[in-house]
Amino acid sequence: MSLICLRVALMHDTWRIWRLYVCLLLGIMVGSGCTPPPTPMLIPTSTVIRVPGIDPGSWKAGGVFVAGVGKVDITPPPGLPLFGYSRARTDDAAGVRTRLYARALYLEDARGEHVVLVQCDLGAISALLHLQVARAIVQETGISVDRLLIGATHTHAGPGGYFGVAYYNYWGSNRPGYDPRIVTFLTERIANAVLAAYRTRAPARIAIGHMTIFGLTHNRSLEAYNNNKSQTISEEALWTMLPEYRAVDPTFTMLRVDRIVGAGTQPLGAFTNFAIHGTAVPSSNDLYSGDVHAAAERALEWAIRRHYGVQTEVIHALTNGAEGDVAPAFTTQNFAEAEQLGLTLASKAFDLFQDLDTRLTDAVHLGYNYEELPLQIPYTADDLELCQHAMVGVPVLGGSEEGRSLLYGKLLGVYEGARQESPQGCHTWKLKALDFLQDLIPATDFPTTMTLQTMRINELLLVAVPGEMSTEMGQRLKQAVLQAAQHTRQSLTHVAIVGLANQYISYFTTPEEYALQHYEGASTLYGPASGPVIAARLEYLVTQMAALTTPPALPSQWIFRPGLKVQAFPEVLSTQGGREAQRVTLDRSTTPPRASFVWQDLSPGTISFDAPLVHLETQIRDGRWVPLFIDALPVDDQGLHLEIRYLREAPLAGAGVWQATWYPQVSFSDPLRFVIAPRGTLPPLYSEPFTLSP
Ligand SMILES: [Zn+2]
Repeated sequence: MSLICLRVALMHDTWRIWRLYVCLLLGIMVGSGCTPPPTPMLIPTSTVIRVPGIDPGSWKAGGVFVAGVGKVDITPPPGLPLFGYSRARTDDAAGVRTRLYARALYLEDARGEHVVLVQCDLGAISALLHLQVARAIVQETGISVDRLLIGATHTHAGPGGYFGVAYYNYWGSNRPGYDPRIVTFLTERIANAVLAAYRTRAPARIAIGHMTIFGLTHNRSLEAYNNNKSQTISEEALWTMLPEYRAVDPTFTMLRVDRIVGAGTQPLGAFTNFAIHGTAVPSSNDLYSGDVHAAAERALEWAIRRHYGVQTEVIHALTNGAEGDVAPAFTTQNFAEAEQLGLTLASKAFDLFQDLDTRLTDAVHLGYNYEELPLQIPYTADDLELCQHAMVGVPVLGGSEEGRSLLYGKLLGVYEGARQESPQGCHTWKLKALDFLQDLIPATDFPTTMTLQTMRINELLLVAVPGEMSTEMGQRLKQAVLQAAQHTRQSLTHVAIVGLANQYISYFTTPEEYALQHYEGASTLYGPASGPVIAARLEYLVTQMAALTTPPALPSQWIFRPGLKVQAFPEVLSTQGGREAQRVTLDRSTTPPRASFVWQDLSPGTISFDAPLVHLETQIRDGRWVPLFIDALPVDDQGLHLEIRYLREAPLAGAGVWQATWYPQVSFSDPLRFVIAPRGTLPPLYSEPFTLSP
């Protein structure tokens, strides 16, 4: 195959071809941004997964509105590739900084209509994962893919390798490959979150609210945004704000849910939506992390529990919006800035949550619609036709404004704005990355269907978009679906776009943004009509939703071609040895100092990494050791400041050497120690005592 390429290249003895080969070779090594660059893969793509259809059975009306929530840790073991930043990142996951969770909300109205809303701390949701979760829950809950909405936060520090199409398995992570065990791991845990929500359903009330938040985000692709013939800027934006800080959708949407307790209620949590890229933590990070969302989720959950005295599970399921061109407003990418942005978001969210105290209602009306659109059909919208073959544009090779790849620059012709001299064919301005070599990629390595979904919860309409929509395309979509709701007399007043939901198909820009071929436009795989077609189809789904009497038709089977299969998931190993504390060290280059504890334990595949593992204890005056709390919160690996890293294999067969590092925010003089939680028959392990004082 490569000989054929070489011969063709020699036939085209041009500078362009030389550049193309340099790009190809370098492109295999580097890359950046969320949408990966392509390569003509000489790897088997014949692995086909056939998944049979789902029969949701019948469902009985409950007579009263009920709701339930579930939250499950989905942090995989170390050793997996990390999704996001493509090859700009070099290392697999070495451990965890902030744990990843799936949060589920089950809603069932008095007529028996029911839906499940799920949020995951993942880079994106794959169609394969969406389907497998539905298959795992349908028998007990009667919920199939059509009533199941799963959104991702778009953290760039979650696992990769779980996609149903080869393109994202190959290029979405720091290394290529599809691992069915990652799909199984995530499916089981996300399904458990849904089942927990379903099993704890009880009479409930909801309230819907929204507010505008400026200052936490900015538009990273302002030149493309400014090319729009119309721009929907929020009325609350100030002219004194920098243009890139105004050119965002500032809407924060909240669905609050409370359980009825006695004559009052008790919060179950909130499902929220805000457009912000999960890129406040840089590509050099090699730890699982929820990025900016981690602090926003936890801090609201903590605030609700504390303020309302809730002892049971509380969730903050923060989903992403039309974030395609929206970056977090960091000055430097690091954990501290990700945390600060998240805490600010949570603080504003808590104000809104409390504002909803008096607006709770149990008069709830649910509705939904769903379709899987074959991308081979030439749908049209705004006089543009959806391209029937995916194409990746040259600027994708160079990465976005948030992280350029090594290829970026005029020398290799890889820069934002690299485009055709005049519109050519269906993809118009797009300059094909790698030229004819891209044609060697089978069409089935890219998504061939598109999943669209609408959900109505009283006056709130959620629209699930399978990728990253730009700010202005999102605003046009919102207007289109609201108009459709008005025409069909559905009293919907507010729309939230749940991005990266149910499936991933890269970016969707407006046709005008697309024409400039910046990173986002070059990542709009099916041409300039992609965004308008999504808006038109969702408009149609909303129109139909008003009169939907039978569930939408679902495929009788699904076929996935995930490409090269690898075993990234670590093995379960048996070991005869026990645990062993090694040492505590203090890094006094920071104030207060960081404390690290190294110990020998089970291997990454055996240690049950998705369960709490490390916490801190302090010694009180009578000599007893008790869990350490700061601001009424335990210091453990479910918070924001305790990381766990797998260092290496231990000399003892089947064992590993681990390190826990605590980043204290305030100093203590009392004695402290690390505690490693029991595993199987292994008892807890304690570090030697230490203090933070000099
Ligand atoms: Zn992205």
